[in-house]
Amino acid sequence: MGSREMKRGKQSRLVPLICALTAMSLVWLSGTFALAELPMTGDPALREAYHAETHAEPSDADLERISRMPRRIAPSDLEPNPSVSVGYPNRGLLRFGVRINDDKDLTVKVGSLNTRYGTGELVRLIEYAAHEVAFRYPRSRLTVGDLSRAGGGRFVPHKSHQSGRDVDLGFYMLDRKSTPVNNHVFVPFNSKGIGRQWGAIYKFDAARNWALMESLLSHPTTDIQHIFVTNSTKRKLLQQALKERANPELLMRAKRVISQPRRGAPHRSHFHVRVYCSDDDRPICKDRPPFYAWHDRPTEAPAVSALLPNDS
Ligand SMILES: [Zn+2]
Repeated sequence: MGSREMKRGKQSRLVPLICALTAMSLVWLSGTFALAELPMTGDPALREAYHAETHAEPSDADLERISRMPRRIAPSDLEPNPSVSVGYPNRGLLRFGVRINDDKDLTVKVGSLNTRYGTGELVRLIEYAAHEVAFRYPRSRLTVGDLSRAGGGRFVPHKSHQSGRDVDLGFYMLDRKSTPVNNHVFVPFNSKGIGRQWGAIYKFDAARNWALMESLLSHPTTDIQHIFVTNSTKRKLLQQALKERANPELLMRAKRVISQPRRGAPHRSHFHVRVYCSDDDRPICKDRPPFYAWHDRPTEAPAVSALLPNDS
């Protein structure tokens, strides 16, 4: 083969390569520009609107409120959300559960590493709440306990936690000098807000724990049905809310949603949080009452929050 032919051969191989490179860079460039309009750019309102597309439409008031909230993007915000909560929290399963991972603002405690799967909505809610608290109180890290097993179902010691909609969250704590600490264990607290474990004394951090309640109860698309904790802890949270002149709507939600369970563990060492079924999981996902007025359940039972105040 002559050298000219070889050259032509090289050129003919080069042409498609150059075409491919040009096409790739065009795709990359268009991706870059498209990203500028997507919610990853730091605009919280756009980001939330994008996120909300697969759930429900937030109202203008929601968007306005969200636009004032500083937020960081969580890893799971970039993923599709195929999770399905099947059945009831105490008789159910989880399909395509999302795993919650440690990040700068939250730690999954040792002992809950195999039970850290929830619906996408629950995992995002926890990440969102942890980030909000850490924004207001820098260097805070939320302690995350059990959610559900990868496929859901029963596991000891819980009756619920079966369908990816329950999570146990540790308290934000202070040490005996009232300095915030991040020890990722569940410490039982007495009615005076004092906890003891392994020789150390802890105080209940009302400010950070109330901030956690505010974040959980103000999420624009995921509604909380229950936050189980002792009555004395609830009182401390509401006192903190009054001290901070909390938003009246939030305070009303807190009074109803936070409660000490009538049966079973009083929850001295953690919050047990349960979310309602998400719209895209119904009707395979089942809720029992109570249903609150602020929780939209199209085509289902009427809201009864006015009839069932839960101010215990
Ligand atoms: Zn629990």
